[in-house]
Amino acid sequence: MDCKFVYPGPEYSVNSIMLFENHTWMDSIFHFYPQVDKAKFTLLPTYDKKGYLRDMCTDMLQKLCREGEVEREIFDKLIKYNEHWQLHKNQIEDAFSEAFQLNTTKILSNMVGNVTFNPICPRFLSTNSFDVFYLNSERGALGIALHEIIHFLWFYVWKKHFNDSEEEYETPHLKWLFSEMVVDPIMRKDPRLSSINPYFEDRCAYDYFYTMKVDEKPMLETLYQMYTSLDILEFMEQGFAYCQRHEGEIKAQIP
Ligand SMILES: [Zn+2]
Repeated sequence: MDCKFVYPGPEYSVNSIMLFENHTWMDSIFHFYPQVDKAKFTLLPTYDKKGYLRDMCTDMLQKLCREGEVEREIFDKLIKYNEHWQLHKNQIEDAFSEAFQLNTTKILSNMVGNVTFNPICPRFLSTNSFDVFYLNSERGALGIALHEIIHFLWFYVWKKHFNDSEEEYETPHLKWLFSEMVVDPIMRKDPRLSSINPYFEDRCAYDYFYTMKVDEKPMLETLYQMYTSLDILEFMEQGFAYCQRHEGEIKAQIP
């Protein structure tokens, strides 16, 4: 597997932000970019929201990039991100080959980390690409990459096994939710992964998983026990059956 961090320019960031126009995650856009007026955005009728957001983001990012400084910093960061990845690539391949019980040196040779101005960092399964916020450090960028690579590998193996519809790999489907849960146990079991992920100590999956209880037991603990005692395909089957059995209880605890 290989991953390259690139800078696709400000237009890409605007499109990336636009993916979240209707999502509560927009709050982080308002946080990082106070120029985008939350009160005004909220009050706008739906048909005007898109235009306002696109115009504001385009303006703001063009201004930021015109000064040149920020983009120069991003290009410097790309060098650091890519060096840091190369430094740990073999270790990551070894860990994931073991976790997913396949030779990962032969697959995912074209992963791309797009460095963007979008603080919400989406991933795209169809292109094995993901976004990294430009203010991140090389360690942070690697942490993001590890999280996303778990998704790419997870669904690579999952698809081969279940041969189901990829639509269900996306939010709000249960298969998507399960794929977000498993990031923690997979990372937790292997210090080759957790030690190079700066997000690990401070939660490497969604916050609400860490307080979630199912049948009065912490959900992540149950999944960790399953993951460490089963092979990967058994874990996919039994872990997902557990999510299906408790779907109501799980979804009731999502804020
Ligand atoms: Zn994720």
